[in-house]
Amino acid sequence: MIPGELIALIGKEKTFFIATHINPDGDALGSSLALSLALESLGKETALYGRDHIPELYHFLPGHERFSNVLPPGRSPLIILDCNEPERAGLSDGSLPYSVVIDHHETVRDFGDIRWIDPAAPATGMMVYSLIKSLGVRITADMATNLYTAIAVDTGTFRYSNTDSEVLRVSAELVDSGADPGVISVALYESWSDGRFRLLLRVLDTLEVVGDIGISFVTRAMFAETGTTPEDTEHFSNFPRMMKRLTISAFFREVDGGWKVSLRSRGEVDVARIAEMFRGGGHRNAAGYKVAADMKTAKEMLIKAVMSRR
Ligand code: 5GP
Ligand code: MN
Repeated sequence: MIPGELIALIGKEKTFFIATHINPDGDALGSSLALSLALESLGKETALYGRDHIPELYHFLPGHERFSNVLPPGRSPLIILDCNEPERAGLSDGSLPYSVVIDHHETVRDFGDIRWIDPAAPATGMMVYSLIKSLGVRITADMATNLYTAIAVDTGTFRYSNTDSEVLRVSAELVDSGADPGVISVALYESWSDGRFRLLLRVLDTLEVVGDIGISFVTRAMFAETGTTPEDTEHFSNFPRMMKRLTISAFFREVDGGWKVSLRSRGEVDVARIAEMFRGGGHRNAAGYKVAADMKTAKEMLIKAVMSRR
């Protein structure tokens, strides 16, 4: 249910500050851009904030160049999307204006003056779609491309179990409004650089299977050798899950002082609960955390955490 206060706030205020999480993905970017375009079509002004660089992969999203990593001046209401804590958005809690949270993550912090959090929503883009509709905004082709991408990315382009009839109905409407599924799929899945593909080959070669857990990793040296960057590893954690006998895929990426871990699981296996044990979070089948340890220790800590849940 869309909170009435959110509709009232949008009616009353003139400018909005829209922010999303660090390492932004298609849902984060697409839902933020669609909301910004919709608010502007109502005569509002919006500033889009993203702490991190927008991955090359998402440069096909209409309006992506409007994201800035400089905080806008003033005290306009903040709307944070696809995350529910200011730290995940690279914002500090201290001096924030009146804040709205629109999110679908299971890991929820008690932040925000208006909190619209729906873990049953397959994507934040689905929530933004219903908000835009209830504001009476006509969905333009640019909004449709952003929303379709948001929904496609978070449903594995209609393959994950969160793909329900509502997702398909909304997506069909977005296609009628101008989103092109073929063009978006090529942009998302078939536009890799040579270096990115070579990096994937190396990463797949690191795969180690412990019971039903697949563990793979990428080091900084591997980025340097292939001329790639961390954003080139998007979706890498999904590959080992293709193996039928694996129920968890853990992908470790070397970062300052340790490893960033991406977890993917199958069916009822809940990796959000595992990530939370390391102060991370996410959804049942896709979650993540950071750990300050060497690879061997980090791996052992993960295996122990998984075992402790069985
Ligand atoms: P990814 O593995 O693609 O980076 O993230 C998968 C899911 O886990 C996303 O929904 C993301 O929001 C969540 N996630 C990843 N890393 C973290 C983290 O460090 N903290 C929290 N709270 N969520 C995370
Ligand atoms: Mn999302």
